[in-house]
Amino acid sequence: MTRVPLERSDKKIFSESDLMSLSMPLWVMDLDQSRLVWANDAARKLWQAESLEELYSRNFEADISNTVASRLEHYRTASHESGQTFKELWTLYPEGKPCAYQVQISGHPLPDGRIGLRFEANPDSNRLPEQIRSAEALNHIPICISLYDMDGEPLYKNPAALETYGDAMLTLRGRFVKRSDYDKFVRGIRKGRSVTKICEVQTDKGKRWHEITGRRCFDGPTGQAACILTESDVTELKEKENRVRYLAHYDMLTGLHNRNYVNSHYPEMIELAFRGNERLVFMVVGLDHFKSINETLGHPTGDALLKHVASLLQLSLDEDDHIARLGGDEFVIVRSFRSTAELDVCCQTLLAAINSECCVGDHILSANASIGLVLFPEHGSDLPTLLRHCDLALHDAKDSGRNTYRFYRPALQQAALAKRSLEKDLARAVENGEFVLYYQPRVDCQSQKVVSAEALMRWQHPERGLVFPGEFIGALEDTGLIHKVGDWIVDRAGRDQRTLSRNGYNIPISINISPRQFERSDFVNRLKAGLAKTQCPADCIEIEITESMLMGETFDAKSVLMDLCRAGFSIAVDDFGTGYSNLAYIQEYPITSLKVDRSFVNMIEEQSSVINLILSLCRLIGISAVAEGVETIDQLAWLRMNHCDQYQGFLYSRPVPLEKLQELMTSSHQLMMKSRLPATLDSEVIWA
Ligand code: C2E
Ligand code: CA
Ligand code: CA
Repeated sequence: MTRVPLERSDKKIFSESDLMSLSMPLWVMDLDQSRLVWANDAARKLWQAESLEELYSRNFEADISNTVASRLEHYRTASHESGQTFKELWTLYPEGKPCAYQVQISGHPLPDGRIGLRFEANPDSNRLPEQIRSAEALNHIPICISLYDMDGEPLYKNPAALETYGDAMLTLRGRFVKRSDYDKFVRGIRKGRSVTKICEVQTDKGKRWHEITGRRCFDGPTGQAACILTESDVTELKEKENRVRYLAHYDMLTGLHNRNYVNSHYPEMIELAFRGNERLVFMVVGLDHFKSINETLGHPTGDALLKHVASLLQLSLDEDDHIARLGGDEFVIVRSFRSTAELDVCCQTLLAAINSECCVGDHILSANASIGLVLFPEHGSDLPTLLRHCDLALHDAKDSGRNTYRFYRPALQQAALAKRSLEKDLARAVENGEFVLYYQPRVDCQSQKVVSAEALMRWQHPERGLVFPGEFIGALEDTGLIHKVGDWIVDRAGRDQRTLSRNGYNIPISINISPRQFERSDFVNRLKAGLAKTQCPADCIEIEITESMLMGETFDAKSVLMDLCRAGFSIAVDDFGTGYSNLAYIQEYPITSLKVDRSFVNMIEEQSSVINLILSLCRLIGISAVAEGVETIDQLAWLRMNHCDQYQGFLYSRPVPLEKLQELMTSSHQLMMKSRLPATLDSEVIWA
């Protein structure tokens, strides 16, 4: 048996045998073991133990609810730190009958230095059964119940409240973290209302969120007006709610507000600006070529770049400015402004900041951005309109070469409407088969014979007549219709080539391929399968691609070209000279001809050295040089003199329907053409 010396002042008055024989039950508990370590005889009887040994061997853990256990723990700490004692009304069962006891609880040192709890149980026989039950219930519920007088001085706290707030004398004001919460309660209660609110409170364990209900009542013993507060801890719920709200309103990557937040909070900001007669600018910042950064350097680098740009943009903000990430690589900044000149400076600063080199992961990057600006109220009065116009202005900035900014103007809206209507029209045109192929002959510079023809698409519009590809190729690409139309072109060109061949003009036909088609993984197979249906052999088809399609970093153009070559197609590089003009590259690819862009031929005199360089290159690597857009006899004469192989142009013929192309190839027509064109190579005559 462990002896626990009772060391307080009472020891001086009572010997252990006195305590043992005291009629008031008295016991000491080791809270950590849930066992009694000392009890007097009255306590032994109260706990209905045969002997003290039997009592000390009992484990009380199962009899102590979690609420009571945590409260006792609190008492132990509080009595150890500040010598406090606590009183509770308990129901105990001596001889199996319920009996009320006023139990005084205080800390008590154990032989090994730890602190136990000492219980002194005073029978309280005056209690009514209802009182006993309610006191018992109060002991066990985790809800805090407290009573204050109307000045906020404490009258009563149930054990849970005592445990939560520690200080029995804590006033009503003292518990609220925010003065406004306290004021709200007091005001409501004074008016006789019941007030319920989730507030932050200062507890013994730090700041917590409590749902508190307060209402007016009377203090039983005095009959004075009082208020009663019941409260439960909802911190976990509140934190979850805060997290959900955070996730709903913030972008996880950059920590900026997200589009959801913009949609729910910006309308109010616009309303305030409207009432205050304030002008706002909405600036949508979009990174240039972000997609290819993501694709070439990987998504983690893309993400790091977005974070970097987000922090740059944040640095540029004034206190009252707003910023959010709209999604992808687009951010919106909203601020008030006085003059557009001020905005010019702001945009230039932003673009320069984004353009400066930064270290992202293992890469040194310098991003470019485009900015679309929309002014409130001039360019729109509500959020959806303003954001839509931002989008148009941003696209305008991108169309203007990127790394720049553009203000919204109504023409952009008209263009967007026209584009939408064009896209709708095109979908119909694809369904109705409104496209036709025209052919422009490609002619041998020396012999003036048609050696091949380029298929050029036309749209036979039911109302507008013949529409040229410059008006609709972009829209076909944007809508993805280009794939269906591309298949049709292969089919049509293949069949037309067969017709030509059957009629004795077995010349190859060139078809133009858009980057969207070229970059699809099934491009070559689709082309081969489509052509096979027409029975046109691949070596009667030349594929025209532009220089920029060779340079894509993310995409292996060379292997596609090798596949095409293996399948028997010839390959021409179209519009040569307008793109990267990397002559060294050309040798690495299985290319059969270079088409010198019309812009050079147009200025043949000024550009003669460049054209000559291209012509020499072609000769060097053994491919044909084709001059595009030849309109004058002088141009042709120059080309002949400088040994250009072939040409295309209005001089010989505009693109024409198939029947007309066949006419152009009749021997009589070719003889007539030859007689019209210069036979001489005497440059003196031409340039004189
Ligand atoms: P491109 O491939 O460079 O085609 C040559 C363009 O120059 C054609 O315009 C042709 O009519 C025009 N042209 C030919 N000779 C002369 C000339 O002497 N002077 C002038 N000023 N122009 C001349 P078109 O037919 O309007 O086609 C424009 C562009 O549309 C083509 O440029 C090509 O990039 C694209 N395109 C045309 N048909 C197709 C097609 O079937 N598929 C794809 N993907 N693109 C096509
Ligand atoms: Ca072409
Ligand atoms: Ca061309």
